[in-house]
Amino acid sequence: MIRNAGMLTWFFLLVGGCGNGEMSEPESLADLRLYVFDCGMLRLETVEDFSVANDETDVRDLSVPCYVIEHEKGRLLWDGGLPSATADTDGWQGEGMLLRLDRTIADQLADIDLNMSSFDLMAFSHMHFDHVGVANEVRGAKLIIQEAEYDAAFADPVTLPGADPSLYNKLKDAETLFINGDHDVFGDGRVRIISAPGHTPGHQVLFVDLTNTGPIVLSGDLYHFALSRAERRVPSFNVDTDATLASMDRIEAFLVEEGATLWIEHELALFETLNKSPEYYD
Ligand SMILES: [Zn+2]
Repeated sequence: MIRNAGMLTWFFLLVGGCGNGEMSEPESLADLRLYVFDCGMLRLETVEDFSVANDETDVRDLSVPCYVIEHEKGRLLWDGGLPSATADTDGWQGEGMLLRLDRTIADQLADIDLNMSSFDLMAFSHMHFDHVGVANEVRGAKLIIQEAEYDAAFADPVTLPGADPSLYNKLKDAETLFINGDHDVFGDGRVRIISAPGHTPGHQVLFVDLTNTGPIVLSGDLYHFALSRAERRVPSFNVDTDATLASMDRIEAFLVEEGATLWIEHELALFETLNKSPEYYD
């Protein structure tokens, strides 16, 4: 068996060596990669709930991304997009705020030979429906979650506004790492969860220290629009305005300190410029 495994490794090294270098080696993980997935779109009637006047911006469509971070020590799903059932109907659907999902993440993962059992870890910026849509579909991954977010999302009744427990109730059965603050996911500082409460009790963002792309921070819902960032606008539905403003200050200082770029997850204008899976950032 050992001999066969060795020969297999040798075979893939050989193929990789004379190929284009892009060929993936089974059972081995990339040093550090970030894959971006289109996990849906939201279309708003009004942006006033975000403390933005409707005549201040023409933006009504929001991207809903999911991300896979591949580190040599494991694979992390960050944010879970819209529920997969959204893809059962073509085009925009719903009333008031419209939703659409053209392709489920499970379908998109197959393009890079992954599936919903391929993750070692999962973490969500927060538990709103458009960030945990596929939470119940993930199999065998350990959940990393702020204790405050968990307590609100699993309270009876749920104390987290905008949460839909039917989308994430199976997380109760997942192996769980409770955190209270920042967390270095793989222990080498390159992938770090940074606490940024206020939008929800345990809202958090993700720092990824990419080699070629440079360090980036995935915003969660710290901001929904570029304007929210420029003008420090706090949505009226955030659970804590003061905590949100403090989180904005802290993350802005962190970005400067790390020389990192912030990707506002819901900013469609940015999302449209990003390379989607199967392409990746490294
Ligand atoms: Zn949210």
